Amino acid sequence: MRMPALFVGHGNPMNAIDRNEFFRGWHEIAHRLPKPASVLCISAHWETEGAWVTASEQPPTIHDFYGFPKALYDVRYPAPGSPALAARVAALVSSERVQQDPGRGLDHGTWSVLSAMYPAADVPVVQLGIDTRREGSHHYAIGRQLAQLRDENVLVMGSGNMVHNLQLFSFHDPKPMAWAERCDEELRRRIAAGEHEALVNYDSLGADARLAVPTPEHYYPLLYVLALQQEREAAEFFNARVVSSLSMTSVLIGGPQA
Ligand code: ZN
Repeated sequence: MRMPALFVGHGNPMNAIDRNEFFRGWHEIAHRLPKPASVLCISAHWETEGAWVTASEQPPTIHDFYGFPKALYDVRYPAPGSPALAARVAALVSSERVQQDPGRGLDHGTWSVLSAMYPAADVPVVQLGIDTRREGSHHYAIGRQLAQLRDENVLVMGSGNMVHNLQLFSFHDPKPMAWAERCDEELRRRIAAGEHEALVNYDSLGADARLAVPTPEHYYPLLYVLALQQEREAAEFFNARVVSSLSMTSVLIGGPQA
């Protein structure tokens, strides 16, 4: 069976310990999927020059945020790494030299979500970095080259937020901003219609999209996942809620029919 592919909106790092609706959404989606042999995560929080994968046996938990409660810094997500998967990614991506980083750990874009999905931390995890100097088509093309992983029991997961403007974000007023909700709806509509070209060239989607993607690191993980969508494969949405200027909308590609 072909493993589904998954894009998750991760949002606030506190979602890792708040046991809120988003955490539950991640937990539930993992229960609907076949348990993968390993996870390849493309997280917004690892920006690289060129293509890099984590290659350690035991990647440390990185607390890459400031000013949060101690409980969040105490979280460890001790999933093993997988040098074998790191090598497999390097072999599959022929358009780029994929370099292997033996020291890099897992950032919160990865562990906040995986601690809800696989709380036992028993699924090996590898991260693939994002070269944010490159445009959308570059990332979509790398995603295409990873297609075979779905037949090798690997869950390819993008972790970002498809609408993500922290400058406009309000911690005090979670009410969705009108433009953010409009943009989230438009992106969902285009994903459902399989309009990948428009989604890759997101900067031509108009003013709402320019507000939604002021910098591309939280958007690009979506393109890796869309690139894995096969002809006639369904896209399904969950956690589809906008909080202030940020959308938590998550996308499951090729999931089991409900
Ligand atoms: Zn983030």
